[in-house]
Amino acid sequence: MSAPKASTKSAANSKPVTIFGPDFPFAYDDWLNHPDGLGTIPEEYHGAEVAIIGAGMAGVTAAYELMKMGLKPVIYESRRFGGRLHSEPFKNADGMVAELGAMRFPESSALFYHYLNKFGLETKPFPNPLTDAAPSTVVDLKAKPIYLTSPDDLPPLLREVEEAWNGALESSAHFSAMQEAIANRDVAKIKAIWNELIPLLDDRSFYGFLANSKEFKAKTFEHIEAFGQVGFGTGGWDTDFPNSMLEILRVVYTNCEEDQRFVVGGVEQVPRGMWRDEPKDMVYWPDGTSLDSLHSGATRTAVKSIKRRNSGQIRVVDKWNDTADYVAALIACQTWAVTTNMECDERLFSQKVWMAMDRTRYMQSAKTFVMVDRPFWKEKDPDTGRDKLSMTLTDRLTRGTYLFDLGDDKPAVICLSYTWMGDAMKMLPLEPDKRVELALDTLKKIYPNTNIEEHIVGDPITVSWEDDPNFLGAFKGALPGHYRYNYEMFCHFMQQDMPSEQQGIFMAGDDVGWMPGWVEGAIQTSLNAVWGIVNHLGGHCTPDNPGPGDQFEQLKPLKLPD
Ligand SMILES: Cc1cc2nc3c(=O)[nH]c(=O)nc-3n(C[C@H](O)[C@H](O)[C@H](O)COP(=O)(O)OP(=O)(O)OC[C@H]3O[C@@H](n4cnc5c(N)ncnc54)[C@H](O)[C@@H]3O)c2cc1C
Repeated sequence: MSAPKASTKSAANSKPVTIFGPDFPFAYDDWLNHPDGLGTIPEEYHGAEVAIIGAGMAGVTAAYELMKMGLKPVIYESRRFGGRLHSEPFKNADGMVAELGAMRFPESSALFYHYLNKFGLETKPFPNPLTDAAPSTVVDLKAKPIYLTSPDDLPPLLREVEEAWNGALESSAHFSAMQEAIANRDVAKIKAIWNELIPLLDDRSFYGFLANSKEFKAKTFEHIEAFGQVGFGTGGWDTDFPNSMLEILRVVYTNCEEDQRFVVGGVEQVPRGMWRDEPKDMVYWPDGTSLDSLHSGATRTAVKSIKRRNSGQIRVVDKWNDTADYVAALIACQTWAVTTNMECDERLFSQKVWMAMDRTRYMQSAKTFVMVDRPFWKEKDPDTGRDKLSMTLTDRLTRGTYLFDLGDDKPAVICLSYTWMGDAMKMLPLEPDKRVELALDTLKKIYPNTNIEEHIVGDPITVSWEDDPNFLGAFKGALPGHYRYNYEMFCHFMQQDMPSEQQGIFMAGDDVGWMPGWVEGAIQTSLNAVWGIVNHLGGHCTPDNPGPGDQFEQLKPLKLPD
């Protein structure tokens, strides 16, 4: 909640901060928006089939862009179109959804909004703590709820936490200088700062960074504890304390914790829009062609095996033994699924890449949603004069409670509980009704006069991502020492020096990127794979619109010694 405010809006920075770098500061948004398009495929490959494994945002983006260039993407999906962009509709209510995966999208996600804006979808500010979109905020620590209606209400402890955090970012991570460099797209400056920090911080956890900073050393343990419970931007961050500090810095440098919006009706509409869209002026395909029409209305099912043929093509077999050979393939599912959910020929990747894929570490996450008759929380408690219910951050079981007001004349949605790691594991074996019961019991302790239950309509919707064999976790959360693994996976699209048996198979998605847990990172890696596939087939970008691989030598991430 104590977000570093000395950020984008300072006078020095007139340009917006976007998720640009810091590891690979390539302007993907400029590349996408350029009139030359992303590249050209040699005519002999027009209509050639390319396998895309996974219909999440990474897979669908690659399929969409490759279709526009004249290839025929063939998408395989084992569970549900959209993957972790999963907007589960409440029964018997129009347009009311529970966002089981991604739900808040920082305005700095330039690529995500590039696609979202194509489909005229409505977005609204996300009701984060202490934002105008939240009616009010309650911070409940050690059974002492504090009611806040503006940042001015923050108690001294939380103010000191905010100062310490901002100070630590400044003194140990050149925060303002880096944000200015990102806003100005000053690659030399970004590289100078980041390449110095990588070796210093790769072995540093988030907790280690805080505890060793002079700013927190000058405070008490209670300050670190409160920081962990209340966090910055969107909620508590103690569940990220073991994570690599590099990963936390990427998030705060690029304003992922600020100015977030949600998609009215559900974010899943973005990949579904891409599936149905009939782009104009495509190469090779006639007007009216869409991913939907190329697939005759449905993706293929789960992939069972991936092998290299003697011809060099890549053979993909699905669970019904449907077998097809492809000139290239993109694996766009969680990397653990490559070893647990399918049989993948070991020769397709180097042992170094296998090591990186298998070392990927996932964060767990559980969410519990209910629909209520109306946004009743705007009514006042007659005893206290306060909102009947507020956006709530607590050290108790629920951790984060978010309120979605979609209009006074409509039902409303409450995310009763959004948890990660150990807090999510507590929910794992529990049935939805039990999860709701526990959440309501917890909230009752904070709001003794409010009866949430009487407002609930319909059945709750819950999720535990780690409970699903297609995911095995919510998203990557790199640990200290994982920089090299991130590097291996992110750079895999540069294949010119690989042995031929490893070429033509690409990977993309949340695991492959530098920004796990943010869809923007998944899209960036998808666009890298698009460049890789074009290049693999002998295609190229125009000189005026070079792609990520064309600029790789100038921009490539720092390589740490083996
Ligand atoms: C709880 C949660 C909260 C999040 N919050 C945010 C947020 O607020 N903002 C944000 O920007 N991002 C958020 N994210 C991250 C965001 O959802 C992901 O970065 C993004 O959706 C990942 O897309 P992807 O294409 O890489 O993977 P996925 O969406 O996981 O797609 C991969 C697909 O591969 C499929 N698959 C697996 N095995 C096979 C197989 N054998 N054959 C065929 N298909 C297979 C899977 O079923 C899946 O559909 C959140 C994620 C979670 C889980």
